Amino acid sequence: MNYQVDEKGYYGRFGGAYIPEILHQCVEDLQNTYLKVLESDSFKKEYHSLLRDYVGRPSPLYFAKRLSEKYGCKIFLKREDLNHTGAHKINNTIGQILIARSMGKTRIIAETGAGQHGVATATVCARMNMPCVVYMGKTDVERQRPNVEKMQMLGATVVPVLSGNMTLKDATNEAIRDWCCHPSDTYYVIGSIVGPHPYPDMVARLQSVISEEIKWQLEEKAGRDYPDYLMACVGGGSNAAGTIYHYLNDERVRIVLAEAAGEGIFSGKSAATIHLGREGIIHGARTLVMQNEDGQIEEPYSISAGLDYPGIGPIHANLLETKRAEFFAVNDQEAMDAVFELTRSEGIIPALESAHVLGVLPKIKFKPEDIVVLTVSGRGDKDMETYLSFCGE
Ligand SMILES: *Cc1c(COP(=O)(O)O)cnc(C)c1O
Repeated sequence: MNYQVDEKGYYGRFGGAYIPEILHQCVEDLQNTYLKVLESDSFKKEYHSLLRDYVGRPSPLYFAKRLSEKYGCKIFLKREDLNHTGAHKINNTIGQILIARSMGKTRIIAETGAGQHGVATATVCARMNMPCVVYMGKTDVERQRPNVEKMQMLGATVVPVLSGNMTLKDATNEAIRDWCCHPSDTYYVIGSIVGPHPYPDMVARLQSVISEEIKWQLEEKAGRDYPDYLMACVGGGSNAAGTIYHYLNDERVRIVLAEAAGEGIFSGKSAATIHLGREGIIHGARTLVMQNEDGQIEEPYSISAGLDYPGIGPIHANLLETKRAEFFAVNDQEAMDAVFELTRSEGIIPALESAHVLGVLPKIKFKPEDIVVLTVSGRGDKDMETYLSFCGE
């Protein structure tokens, strides 16, 4: 079984590039360019030197002793929270900005939910001296203040989006609209493994540095280069794709992914796309989409701004279809409990998104010899307001 993208841009039935005519040329240019750039020596050299000296990679693989004792297995945390700008997002934006430059683009746009991708994009734009416009739903602008302030300080223009739920889906629509108006000079830095081909594959490759490091770090720490379980949370699915990339065809490794159930899968306030979604097209890709009978996209909800997206990366839709991965839905309360558990047992305050995969630990029966690698996709600084108000409740 091959779980990677095929030459037409599909993972099984999912993926492809369903785009308006006006974007055909620039999407085709990107399709024809990205692998050449990613595989060139000059790109690899610059990308890896930036990952080391600017991002702070390799990110540690940390043996979480007290968490392991609690769940009766050996839990290693992949610490993407320690990256520059506080999450895995920078692995992707560093790579895409180099691709944009090599294509001669002069203006950068991005969408953001929690603001992590916006900050990561504004950061690399500041470093490359490129103008940057970030679209962000007004709801998210309000609940993720610190990240909005960071983007502005970095010199980016943050545009609050007033349509729909005023969250990530609406910000993405607005970014695509902008791109349609400026296809020749503008590069759209997408923040997850969503959007038309080649974005899902390109972003997965850029995030695959995570599993590349897990291999040698695990060999060093546990004496074998594969775990029994790989675990990650899924919004669009990029930190998860990076975590599993080099293990997809290794059937010894169980893949366990977590999505956001909000107030409960069937509560009407949820972002559990894998559990609720039906096949459809969103933002240029065929995948699972939360939609009503008429094919209208349902508004997703999660306490975590980075997970409330009504679609999912096509690679994950295919992992569900082929049963290669198991998916759990974790609700707001379970995620919040997991935040406090990790904080009080290991002294690590995780991002709310990452807490959703921590919330799966109580749902699995592990064996003492099981080796579990769980990706902590980001740190909790941006979520402090939510955490504190929750304590006070
Ligand atoms: C954006 C974000 C996510 C969700 O995005 P994926 O593409 O699914 O990885 C998860 N965790 C953090 C900390 C994020 O910032």
